[in-house]
Amino acid sequence: MQEGLKTLYDYTLDELKQIISPSFRAKQIYNWIYKKYAQDFEQMSNLPKDMIKSLKESYTLDLANIKASETSVDGSIKYLFEFADGHSVESVFLLMKDKQYDEDGNIIKGEKYTFCISTQVGCKVGCSFCLTAKGGFVRNLSAAEIVYQVLMLKKLNNIEENKAVNIVYMGMGEPLDNFDNLIKAIKIISELDGLAISTKRQTISTSGISSKIEKLGKEDLGVQLAISLHAVDDELRTELIPMNKAYNIKSIIDAVKNFPVDTRKKVMFEYLVIKDKNDDLASAKKLVKLLSGIKAKVNLIYFNPYPNSPYQRPSKDNMVKFQEYLISKGLLCTIRESKGLDISAACGQLKEKGE
Ligand code: SAH
Ligand code: SF4
Repeated sequence: MQEGLKTLYDYTLDELKQIISPSFRAKQIYNWIYKKYAQDFEQMSNLPKDMIKSLKESYTLDLANIKASETSVDGSIKYLFEFADGHSVESVFLLMKDKQYDEDGNIIKGEKYTFCISTQVGCKVGCSFCLTAKGGFVRNLSAAEIVYQVLMLKKLNNIEENKAVNIVYMGMGEPLDNFDNLIKAIKIISELDGLAISTKRQTISTSGISSKIEKLGKEDLGVQLAISLHAVDDELRTELIPMNKAYNIKSIIDAVKNFPVDTRKKVMFEYLVIKDKNDDLASAKKLVKLLSGIKAKVNLIYFNPYPNSPYQRPSKDNMVKFQEYLISKGLLCTIRESKGLDISAACGQLKEKGE
C-alpha cells in the first residue's frame, strides 16, 4: 500500500460526484470498483487517460492485506484483514445452503451467502464471555474499512455482482459504538450503482446501547436489528455485559418497541446459552414474558469455549428443551448452526492465532 494516497471506499456516490468532474464519471468509477471488482485504475477502460492518471496520483484501491484465512469443512471461510496501521479484524464468509439441482442438472436453489463483518478493532463493552473483549478497545473502523470487508468477501469468492447476499454486523466490535461510520458504510454498501446490498439484508447486532437503538430507529434505514440479550434478569446480564448497569433490560425492550420494523420482519433476540447460568426452563419462561408484545424471534447460540474461558458449553439436551419451550409458546426460535466450528469459530480466535 502506497503512503499518502487516499481511499475511495469512504465516499458515497453523491460525495464522489462532488469531487469527480464531470460527475457522471463517478457512477462509472463506482461501477468499476463495486460491480467489476477492479484491482487497478488502469482497468477502468471507459475513463479518459488523464482521469486515470490523476486518480492514480491521489487514490489507492488497496486498503488491507489478508494476514490469514481458514476454510471450514462446511465451506465457510474466515479472513483476517490487516490495515496499514498494523491492526487487524476478522470477517467471515458463511455458506448457508448448498446448491440443489433438478433432474436435468439445472440449479434450482442457489447457495446463500452471509457475510459477518467487523466494525471496530477490539471493543469497549467488555463482555465476560467474549474473546474480542479481552484485548480491550483499540479503534473504530472507518466507513471505508467496513465497506472494504464486504467488497473483498464478494470479490475473493467470485460472487456475481447481482447475487443477493446478507450482511450481519456481528464480527468484532460494537457496531452502535461506531455509529456514524457504520451508517455511512451501510449507505455505501446499499448504493444501487455499487454493491447494491439492500438495507433489508443488513442486520446490526448490538449488545444493547438503548440510546443508540433509538437513534438508529430515527435514521429509518430499513436495516434489521438483532439484540444480544443473553440473560433475562439484570443481575446475570450485568455479569455478562457490564454495560447493562447503564442500559438495563427494560431500557432495551422499550427501545426495541419504538424501533421501526418492516411489517414482514421481526427483531432478532440473540441468547447466548451458557451451561448452568441461563440454560434452564425458568429462564425460558421469563424470556417468553419479556418478549410478549414484541415482534420477536429468538436465536439460541451455544457458548463457544476458548482456552481459559470462564464458562462452559450447554448440553444439546438443554438447548433443545429451551427451544421447544419457546416454540410451544408461539415464539419463533432457531438454534444457531455451528457454522465453521472447526475454523476458530468464536469471534476473535483467528486473530489470536494470527498475532
Ligand atoms: N457487539 C455486537 C456484535 C458483535 S458480537 C454484539 O455483542 O451483539 C457478535 C456475537 O458473538 C454476539 O451475539 C455474541 O454474543 C457472540 N459471541 C461472543 N463471544 C462468544 C462465544 N464465546 N461463544 C459464542 N458466541 C459468542
Ligand atoms: Fe463487544 Fe459484542 Fe464482544 Fe460484547 S460480545 S465484547 S459487545 S463484540
